[in-house]
Parts: sequence; structure tokens; C-alpha cells
Amino acid sequence: MSTISNDKYEAVIGLEVHAQLLTESKAFAGVSSEYGGAPNSQVTPLCLGHPGTLPVLNENLVRFTIKMGLATNCKIAEKSIFARKNYFYPDLPKGYQISQYETPICYDGYIKIELDDYEKTIGLTRIHMEEDAGKSIHDQDPYHTLVDLNRAGTPLIEIVSEPDLRTPQEAYEYLKKIRQIVQYLEICDGNMEEGSLRCDANVSIRLRGQKELGTRTELKNMNSFRNVERAITYEIERQIELLESGGQVVQQTLLWDPNKLETRQMRSKEEAHDYRYFPEPDLPPIIVSKEMLSEVEKELPELPDVRFNRFVNELGLNSDDAVILTENRLLADYFEEALSILDEPKALSNVILTEVLRVLNDQSITIKEFSVSAERLTELIVLKLEDKINSSAMQTIFNEMLKNGKSATDLAKELNLIQVSDSGFIEPIIDEIIESYPDEVARYREGKKALIGFFIGQVMKKSKGKANPKQVREIVAEKLES
Ligand code: ADP
Ligand code: MG
Repeated sequence: MSTISNDKYEAVIGLEVHAQLLTESKAFAGVSSEYGGAPNSQVTPLCLGHPGTLPVLNENLVRFTIKMGLATNCKIAEKSIFARKNYFYPDLPKGYQISQYETPICYDGYIKIELDDYEKTIGLTRIHMEEDAGKSIHDQDPYHTLVDLNRAGTPLIEIVSEPDLRTPQEAYEYLKKIRQIVQYLEICDGNMEEGSLRCDANVSIRLRGQKELGTRTELKNMNSFRNVERAITYEIERQIELLESGGQVVQQTLLWDPNKLETRQMRSKEEAHDYRYFPEPDLPPIIVSKEMLSEVEKELPELPDVRFNRFVNELGLNSDDAVILTENRLLADYFEEALSILDEPKALSNVILTEVLRVLNDQSITIKEFSVSAERLTELIVLKLEDKINSSAMQTIFNEMLKNGKSATDLAKELNLIQVSDSGFIEPIIDEIIESYPDEVARYREGKKALIGFFIGQVMKKSKGKANPKQVREIVAEKLES
């Protein structure tokens, strides 16, 4: 099969990402938009499309969207309008979705992505506001399609990229960046598996060096980051094979089948005019005042890129570590909480990136559910830094802390792991070990200095891990040299 790093062709990819906003109520109705309620329990006459009902704009929909726009370097329109996107579907009782068409509220932005050996800026065409449709359920009744309208009217933003992406990996990184930003802004939980972040991928290929874009297809139904990458890879290869065998790409919408790992046709591509867009007559224009803009600006948290740079430049962390620490806002918050107690960035990041992340992975939990508080973890690291416990004791105590709510100091005492730096305790043990291994002592004295590790190990064992290894090394060396 042909590969993506094809010399003859280049892929062009543009993504449309929908993010479900974490507002408390729906976009235009005063009812909860929370996920998971009993079917059709969160609906108003408006959600059902009853005649005579009127939409009322949820101001948080506007604020959340502006936040995203500012975080992605967009211009914010002082005035924009809503438009009706008309189509017929059972889960859309109104017969149209309220969206934005000619005047999106945010436009002309960009996002930076990092690949293994290069950085790239991806243009954002627009971010607009819209409402979600309801949900058709096809797999619960053998004869009927069921409709749940809880989701009808849930606020969404659609983030449309320029066709600036060139490889499936770039698309993957771009998507991860979007998730990271919405999570930092706390406007969307970013969960692709549960559908709160959805991505349609537009894919075309063209000869290298060619300016015009090729005919594109649009891929849908990829419900994980990996599936987006896989589906795009598959589609690029399919298009190359098609052109190479004398065929032509047909503009159409394709569905990704995650089980068969292939795409299949869903429908021929609809055009904008099929939707009969027209201005929404029931809602006034959206006016973003200077005051509102500066209020929202003040609410912006430190963004991931800025935080990453601060971790590297001010805290002295290496960039690989800083990437992982800042990937998830809550993990970075945890790290910073610990840092506010103990100003040892390197030591803290080491323990969090190895021990803490291992536990999170093993238990499939997030840092929010992690049982050891930042304060408790810090206490453990202090014991180590002050040489009161050694590395293996630290490990043992950490594992115990996971099981019960006890503090590191209490556990160190209870498990008898406080390191002893008293030479009156250590010297007799060292003497005993030296006496028991005359051959090793002779070889050491003949020049086999690496044996020092053997003696230290024996002493540590004999002391049940309580001796201070630094001190043991000094005394052992002194005694062997004499
Ligand atoms: P539509 O309204 O039909 O979805 P848009 O023109 O708004 O189409 O574009 C949607 C997405 O498709 C954008 O992300 C855009 O960058 C991308 N796109 C447009 N043309 C191409 C192409 N030839 N190849 C790949 N992506 C494209
Ligand atoms: Mg589209």
C-alpha cells in the first residue's frame, strides 16, 4: 500500500471541531443542559419546537465563546447575528438549528502545535455559536427509532480551521491542543469518547507543488483522537490509490467504521445552499461591548503555552517534563500547589511524573481522584530531601500512603524507616560486614574499588534500610583504605 510520506502527493486537511459547552442551561431555554438525565426530562416547549415559543439567549454561551476566541488569537466581532440552518430530521423538531453563518462571533485566529521536530501555526477561519440537535437512538427498540431531546438546544461552538494541516499527526496534535485549551478555560470537558468534543475532518490530496486544492471528502464518526488520526491516514491512502488508478475523488461525506477500520459513504456532500440559511428573526444581533470583552479577558486563566514556558524558563524544568505536567490543567495545579509549600520544582516534578502518574495510569483515574493530597506528598519529599529516609523507604511509604490516610512522617516512624545517621549505630554494623567478607576486602585493597557498592549494599541490608547511604559510603571507604 502507498504510504503517507508519498513523494508525489501532499495531503491537505481542515478540521471542524464541535465543543459542547459546560454552561448550566441550554443555549436559548432556561433548562439544564447537563448530560445523563432521564430521556426527555430536560425539555421545554421551545426544545420541542412548539409554535409560539421564543428563544432567549444564554449570555454564558457568548462569554464562553469569546473566551475560546481570545485564547486562540481570534478577532472578536462587535456585532454578529444568528442564522437558521434548515434541515429535516426527527431529532430536530423545529426543523432548523440556530447557528451562525455569514458573521461568526470569532474569526481569523490561530493555534500553535508542536510536532517531534518542528512547530507549526494553524489558522482558524472562525469560531461560531450554535445549538445541538436531539439524539436519535437506533439500538434500543427492534422496530422503532427513539428520540431523546435532552440534548436539543445544548450550546456548542464550532471551531473551523484553515486547510493548513498536512499530515494525520498534525491533525492529532491540533485536536489535542484544542482539548487542552477548552479544558484550561473550563468551557468544555473535552471528552471525545462521550461526544462533548466532536471532529469532522476534511481531506484532499494534490500533487506536491500544486497550488489549487484537490476535491475533498468529509469524514465523520471518529470518536477518539486515535480514530481521527487513523481515519485520515486511511482516507489519504484511499485517495492516492484512486488517483493513481485513473479515478477521481468524489466530494462526499464518509463515515468512519471503527471496527472495520475503513470509511464508507454516508451521503453525497451537501452544499451550504441546501440548508437555506437565513438570519434568525427571533433573536437580536449579538453585541460584544468593550466592557464585556475586558471582563471576559480578566477571567482568562494562564493558558497552556504560557504556563509551559514559565515551567521551563522560571522553574528550570526540562521541556519534556513541562509538556506532561501542563498537558492537563489539574495536574499542573496539583504540582503548583505542592510547589507553594516546597520550593523544589525538580524534586516535585520527578515524583509526580513517575510515582503519581504511574498510580493514575494503573488505576485509570485522574489527579482529581488521587488519594494523596499535594500537601501530604510534599511532606514525603521533604523527608527524603532532609535525608531522613532513603529512596527505597520513600517508595515504601508512598505505597502505604495510597492505602491509608496516614502522613509520611507517621508512616516512616511506624514502619521504622527513619534513617539513622548516628555513627554509634552504623559503625558496629560496618565492622561486622568487613569482618565477614575478608576476600572482598582483600580484592578492594588490591584495587577493585567498585566493590564499595557491595559493602554499602550489605550494610544497608543489615541495617534494614535505616542507615544513611551517604554516611555509610564515607565510613566504609575510610575503614577499607586504612
Ligand atoms: P463546509 O461548510 O462545507 O463544511 P467549509 O468551506 O466551511 O465547508 O470548510 C470546512 C472545512 O474544510 C474547513 O476546515 C476547511 O479548511 C476545510 N477545507 C476546505 N476545502 C478543503 C480541501 N480542498 N481540502 C481539505 N480541507 C478543506
Ligand atoms: Mg462541514
